[in-house]
Amino acid sequence: MRDGILTIDLAAIRRNWSAVGRRLKSATECAAVIKASAYGLGSERVAPSLYRAGCRRFFVATVDEGLSARAYLPADATVYVLAGMAPGREADCIERQLIPVLVSAEQLQRWRQARRQAASAAPCAIKVDTGMTRLGLDMEEFEHLCAEPQLLLDCNPVLFISHLACADDVDHPLNRRQLSAFRQAAQQMRRLCPQIRLSLANSSGICLGEPWHFDLVRPGGALYGVNPQPGADTIVEPVLDLKLPIVQVREVSRPGATVGYAATYRIDRPVRLAVALGGYADGIHRIAGATGFGVLAGVKVPVVGRISMDSTIFDISAVPAAQLPPPGGGHIQVLGPSIDIDQASAAAGALGYEILTSLGDRYHRRYVGE
Ligand SMILES: *Cc1c(COP(=O)(O)O)cnc(C)c1O
Repeated sequence: MRDGILTIDLAAIRRNWSAVGRRLKSATECAAVIKASAYGLGSERVAPSLYRAGCRRFFVATVDEGLSARAYLPADATVYVLAGMAPGREADCIERQLIPVLVSAEQLQRWRQARRQAASAAPCAIKVDTGMTRLGLDMEEFEHLCAEPQLLLDCNPVLFISHLACADDVDHPLNRRQLSAFRQAAQQMRRLCPQIRLSLANSSGICLGEPWHFDLVRPGGALYGVNPQPGADTIVEPVLDLKLPIVQVREVSRPGATVGYAATYRIDRPVRLAVALGGYADGIHRIAGATGFGVLAGVKVPVVGRISMDSTIFDISAVPAAQLPPPGGGHIQVLGPSIDIDQASAAAGALGYEILTSLGDRYHRRYVGE
């Protein structure tokens, strides 16, 4: 059986990285977040392409992702591991030059210990929590560490970060509160380590403006086409095109016939249906189930009935007969120029991020714009 075709435009991803970079003053560096295999798009292809465009700093989520990154990125790329390291993984970080983002005093202690054992000068990053209450040293903990700074200093911190909780909502008061908490913490940190670099903004944080930029920004979603400022004109372009192959076309004229599992859709007039390959195991419930349509021969074709694990049914009655694909052929587009990730996610009440990361691994992936 033919597969769905997921086309990933690497040149568009590089252009998005540059579009984000153009918002920064020259002293601010633009990194790339490539965790979860570049949000599902294939970090082994995406990251080297960004490296060629000039990106030298990459963020992954786990030590294992970092070890993979070492295989596909040149040695002078800096790789940060956002969740720090689990016990026993310190040596992997030291040996493969992964910079763990340490989030607790417990991680700092293990890092110090591992560096001593290995007689290593390996650096780390440190994360403080300024209002998201997820990963990071809380402010009280951080102040204790600064009061007795030997532990901090023994870890060789080179980057100090925090993460914004509400940056996609420009008017949210937490944005300013987090900014001022981070500034305050950064000041303390700089007293101890004058050279340390600072980083606060993700994709949406970059759009909040220069005060949020510091030395390094960490965009992820914007690189992959998600509008970092929902509600405003986007500064990035779509990077995906997804087409599902039509497996079977059927004419249904029997009144009262029902479509799909649980018979949720009932036919009340003669229709032509196309059964396309690709279902909720391929992220389609997030896409077509949400927008409720695909595109065939330039015509919007609605989804009917429940989306199955492997297939989705479209009502293609509105497509003129002369434009129907030949028997056994044809594709229905579910992401592309006329259905971008922001439209699909808005309709789904989902995040663009959820759509990207739920695409699964069954599509035939084509990378263009190398
Ligand atoms: C995922 C992540 C990012 C990237 O966020 P986007 O919203 O995708 O730009 C940046 N920083 C941290 C700490 C993250 O976990």
